[in-house]
Amino acid sequence: MIPAAFEYARASSVDEASKLLDKYGEDAKVLAGGHSLIPLMRLRLAQPSALVDINGIKDLDHIRESSGKLHVGALARHVTIQNSSVVKEKLPLLAEVAGEVGDNQVRNMGTMGGVIAHADAAGDYPTLALMLDADIVTNQRTIPAREFFKDLFTTALANDEVVTEVVFPVANGAHRYVKFRRRLFDWAIVGVAAQKMNGGWRIGITNVAPTPVRAHAVEAALQAGAKAEEAAQHASDGLDPAGDLRASPEYKKHLARVLTKRAIQQAEGQ
Ligand SMILES: Cc1cc2nc3c(=O)[nH]c(=O)nc-3n(C[C@H](O)[C@H](O)[C@H](O)COP(=O)(O)OP(=O)(O)OC[C@H]3O[C@@H](n4cnc5c(N)ncnc54)[C@H](O)[C@@H]3O)c2cc1C
Repeated sequence: MIPAAFEYARASSVDEASKLLDKYGEDAKVLAGGHSLIPLMRLRLAQPSALVDINGIKDLDHIRESSGKLHVGALARHVTIQNSSVVKEKLPLLAEVAGEVGDNQVRNMGTMGGVIAHADAAGDYPTLALMLDADIVTNQRTIPAREFFKDLFTTALANDEVVTEVVFPVANGAHRYVKFRRRLFDWAIVGVAAQKMNGGWRIGITNVAPTPVRAHAVEAALQAGAKAEEAAQHASDGLDPAGDLRASPEYKKHLARVLTKRAIQQAEGQ
């Protein structure tokens, strides 16, 4: 389908983008890689009055390490994150996850900021951001990931707020992201990330709730000395996932347990 008519403006700075969003009002949207927004517009599930294109803003695609933190610019493309030597060294789990997003076309265009701001329950980076206690930095403030994801497709962002970077902790211990899907380039039916850091484990689960989930009960069981298989039984504690065309709620809970076991065991090299 053809999208409904909209205004288009290209911003050359974050400040200008924010002013344009303010000018066009609450129905205006940032355009980054366009790989979530444009499909929604073509289906007329989104009908923004204006698009503010941020692709011309310089220095928003940075990836750098500073004082034990990995700073990933909002316009860093998935393929750049996947292949970045800094990411591979400082947070290899993120490089692994980036390589699992969609197909080549999606990875060439889609951005860190776009996935975070879009807040799809099946998005892969939000899980990492939540479980690793990342910060979402905007032109106005810094928002801890645990306060950022409010509901399905709903975040703490104000209408004129632009994500500028996501700041992750450096963590290069044992890690694994296990993503269950029918075809290689599909979104996760369920995904589980495991990262060893600061003497414990961080476990995050994708697509079992409207927002990403941190599996605190699994982390606590591992901390108390449980083996992966035993700890993973807690992965579905408190979950009440919605069923969809690909999986029933019970099947998603089953996947959460099975994939958690696999993620931990594979991270440990078993
Ligand atoms: C076939 C296909 C398969 C995919 N598979 C996966 C997958 O497996 N895993 C996954 O995580 N994603 C997947 N995606 C989504 C893909 O990663 C998108 O690129 C991503 O969701 C959005 O990023 P974008 O840069 O394209 O953002 P856009 O589509 O341009 O924008 C998405 C939303 O975020 C807002 N936005 C974008 N950037 C900013 C910013 N800097 N500040 C504030 N708001 C902003 C926009 O206004 C819009 O509301 C897939 C997409 C397709 C088409």
